[in-house]
Amino acid sequence: MSRTSEDACFRNFTEEVVERTMASVFAADASLCSCKRCQNDIRALALNALTPQYYVSERSRMLARMIEAPSETETAESVNAAVRRVKAIPRHSDAADSEAALINYSEEMVWRVIHDVVTERKDICSCPQCLTDTAAITLNDMRPRYHSTLKGRSYSKLDELDQKFYAECWVTVFHALTKVSTQPHHNREKSDQTGTETL
Ligand SMILES: [Zn+2]
Ligand SMILES: [Zn+2]
Repeated sequence: MSRTSEDACFRNFTEEVVERTMASVFAADASLCSCKRCQNDIRALALNALTPQYYVSERSRMLARMIEAPSETETAESVNAAVRRVKAIPRHSDAADSEAALINYSEEMVWRVIHDVVTERKDICSCPQCLTDTAAITLNDMRPRYHSTLKGRSYSKLDELDQKFYAECWVTVFHALTKVSTQPHHNREKSDQTGTETL
């Protein structure tokens, strides 16, 4: 299953806002440790405190920009709070700091659930466009779970996530799929009309 259609982008706009804010915070404070681990810890803490704003195309990115959610002030507050926490208890002693990565477990889980749902429900359109729209809608409805981690550990950590989270994702994905199937963005002329009665 392809995650996105060829021309589509799939990103959380809030990440861009946090990145901008972090750049100015780091430029203004030379005492801040700029190692990858500390930076990712700050990113994760700030992003988990802010509303996610996933977009799937240049057009929806523009809309996210216009909405400007979260606001510059809200972002600055979250980044500064994250900076204070990381400064107080830095985790950069690990020898594998250069392997530090940032992952949103909600994103990983949502794709896993989408995969499971479309495998089971053959009546649902599983084109990249519909699935990407579904993932974005679901993730904008969920609490983000960013973690600063070391590469290679992300999937084993994901396996530890409890059934409750999986079930919660399933419900949200199902709502999003219903929404997308009522008003799909894919080109309906190209789809097999006999199989699109529920769309
Ligand atoms: Zn550091
Ligand atoms: Zn579709």
